[in-house]
Amino acid sequence: MAQAAVAPYQDAIDIIKEEGGEICKLCYQCGTCTATCPWNLVRSFMVRKSMHQAQLGLIDFESEDMWLCVTCKWCVERCPRGVEIIDVWRSYRRAIVEMGIAGVPDSIRFTQKNISGVGNPQGEDRNKRTDWASSAGVKPFTKGMEVLYFACCYNAYDPKLIRVAKATAKIMEKAGITFGILGNEQNCCGESIRKAGAEETFKSLVKANIDSFNKAGVQKIVVSSPHCYHTLKNEYKELGGQFEVLHSAQFLAQLIKDGKIKPTKEIKKVVTLHDSCYLGRHNKIYDEPRFVLKSIPGIQLVEMYNNRENGLCCGGGGGRIWAETKKGERFSDMRIDQAIEAKANILAAACPYCMANFEDSVTTMDKGSVLEVKEIVELVAESL
Ligand code: SF4
Ligand code: SF4
Repeated sequence: MAQAAVAPYQDAIDIIKEEGGEICKLCYQCGTCTATCPWNLVRSFMVRKSMHQAQLGLIDFESEDMWLCVTCKWCVERCPRGVEIIDVWRSYRRAIVEMGIAGVPDSIRFTQKNISGVGNPQGEDRNKRTDWASSAGVKPFTKGMEVLYFACCYNAYDPKLIRVAKATAKIMEKAGITFGILGNEQNCCGESIRKAGAEETFKSLVKANIDSFNKAGVQKIVVSSPHCYHTLKNEYKELGGQFEVLHSAQFLAQLIKDGKIKPTKEIKKVVTLHDSCYLGRHNKIYDEPRFVLKSIPGIQLVEMYNNRENGLCCGGGGGRIWAETKKGERFSDMRIDQAIEAKANILAAACPYCMANFEDSVTTMDKGSVLEVKEIVELVAESL
């Protein structure tokens, strides 16, 4: 079936309406979204056409296009009619998942199964979530502590990214912050699986996490991932979760401004910052990570061609971090080229998905001798 009419999927229409997908009716077909979408730098992705098909009630649910959007929000920021294009894609994906329509990529199905089964997308042993913390002497959160540190599944399990969680803990210790982590009962924040259409899985994760936070007496949460930040801050309240949430870039900036930490060791490098979509366009946090980098003696901060509001996605949003992207279509490869063109020695990021994608790209592009990929917390920790 090349193009399935919505009509046979009456339940799908209800799901799309519930998710806000009907906002596509505002679209007047200017084509700005297609011209903006980064996919069109590497392949064809006709966002405008998809909005038109949706208006006509014709949606090709089985198309590969259903799973391309990385939810980078660039098109949404530019759409003159205020169409929440991400919500339209999310509504389609939810309809596909819940209706059991063919075409859900295997990677998304496996990720959803892993999250439902063991609370993390990688399918790692639930009892190993806090191994990184035990080896770093980080304690479980107890009532009265100032901060709950929510490290992200990637930083907790990925052997290449555990260093980010450890550096964050080291900085908090140096700053004299009382902090702890939740135990192995903590679940994935759920952001990416929601964007991949698994709404019910998302809701059950959120309810379990809110319950754990409340039982532990958590009030303030520091996160490493902009995806955790976005959902904990903006979406958990839909299900009754109200907490103070700070991304590590904001937290570090505050610690430096308050004089609780002072980077002193010189790092004589040219550094460029990648604006993660969920820190930048989704939450307008552009200045804090730059302030943190500029606070480190010796660092010369340069900008890439795409920066701040015009940042280029790493390719990992919207659940794409779990999907295979063909060589030649990876946004992260373009970002490595941009960092090298800006004459940077270090590409700094503040997101586990961006870190994972950039480290892969540097390796597969064989650029490790000219460009290092570092989390901003690592750079701060090195400078203390
Ligand atoms: S930018 Fe907005 S109005 Fe223009 S084609 Fe895209 S969705 Fe429609
Ligand atoms: S949110 Fe980003 S990836 Fe998705 S359609 Fe818009 S520009 Fe393209």
